[in-house]
Amino acid sequence: MNTFGPPKLVLVRGEGAHVWDEDGTEYVDLLGGIAVNALGHAHPALVTAVTEQMQTLGHVSNFFATGPQVRLAERLIGLCSPDSGRRDGRVFLANSGSEANEAALKATRRTGRTKLVSAADSFHGRTMGSLALTSKAAYREPFEPLPGDVTFVPYGDAAALAAAVDDETAAVVLEPLQGEAGVNVPPPGYLAEARRVTREHGALLWLDEVQTGIGRTGRWTAHDPSLEPDLVTFAKGLAGGYPIGACVGLGEAGHLLGPGNHGTTFGGNPVASAAALAVLDTIEAEDLRAHATAVGARLRDGLDHPHVAEVRGEGLLIGISLDAEVAPAAVAAAQDAGFIINATGPDRVRLAPPLVLTEADAESFLAAWPAILDVAYEAGS
Ligand code: PMP
Repeated sequence: MNTFGPPKLVLVRGEGAHVWDEDGTEYVDLLGGIAVNALGHAHPALVTAVTEQMQTLGHVSNFFATGPQVRLAERLIGLCSPDSGRRDGRVFLANSGSEANEAALKATRRTGRTKLVSAADSFHGRTMGSLALTSKAAYREPFEPLPGDVTFVPYGDAAALAAAVDDETAAVVLEPLQGEAGVNVPPPGYLAEARRVTREHGALLWLDEVQTGIGRTGRWTAHDPSLEPDLVTFAKGLAGGYPIGACVGLGEAGHLLGPGNHGTTFGGNPVASAAALAVLDTIEAEDLRAHATAVGARLRDGLDHPHVAEVRGEGLLIGISLDAEVAPAAVAAAQDAGFIINATGPDRVRLAPPLVLTEADAESFLAAWPAILDVAYEAGS
């Protein structure tokens, strides 16, 4: 259960990018992609993979490995490797993005250094360690003091980042695009500069792909794997809605955590791992990365409107800034019109539909968009 306030809708059924509430009202889900990701709701490939795995081997204690777990770890290392060659890597499988980040945070401690650099407006989770790396005051303040020695730098400012990193820095942690902040895209070369400066000071580069990874931006990872980050964390849509998180340690960073250093009972259980393998296979089989790129570009083009100050994003991770603080009213108006979207701030709306969103669904949202804004501005004025 979340703590985000009373539920706005009680959903009872889903298919593709469509969901139905308990009254039978149908909605196009332009948000659930951040959790369900690629395959949307009730994709037959996912249902079959999960069912077959439950019938074969549900879970064993994590004293043993299972086939799906091993295959998933191999696949994730492959996704984090440049085309020209596979990197050496090791994977810790967990149950959520926060937990994947906790594993990465513990790995950074094994460097013998404790200083961390994160970004303003970042989001890395709500557990105490991941919260320590998350910048938003409203999330942090009720729980201070938070663990660790974290410096926040403005996101996208390479000079500020370079100035904050020194020989005592254990790691720099960055989202390749900031998701919860409302989809902030850094300037070209920012991550490469982060790689350069971390290498110069012997610090780790840790990229949080929890929201951006697994096809969301039209690529497996939002960063280019040839950058060779040390740690990459995944979660959210990786297992198509089943709880999973993954901390991938690459090169020497794969050896920071050793046997006995860390563990979790359900992490990487065979059913969640089989779900993740089905997600990865189906993204490939249905060419969903190219689809995300094409439908995302169409959506971004079509969102243009006199009240839209800016449209940002890549693939099907899209942030919209409005010229007034009417984002919550736009979310409500969209819901009344049969579309689920969300506000990431008073003037910011985010779209993150399942990658299977059809062109027809994208067009129906674009057709409704001007009227959604009319209603929102009327309600807000
Ligand atoms: N990192 C990023 C970039 C996220 O967007 C989120 C979730 N919004 C998390 C970590 C935390 O993931 P979880 O909710 O699965 O713990």
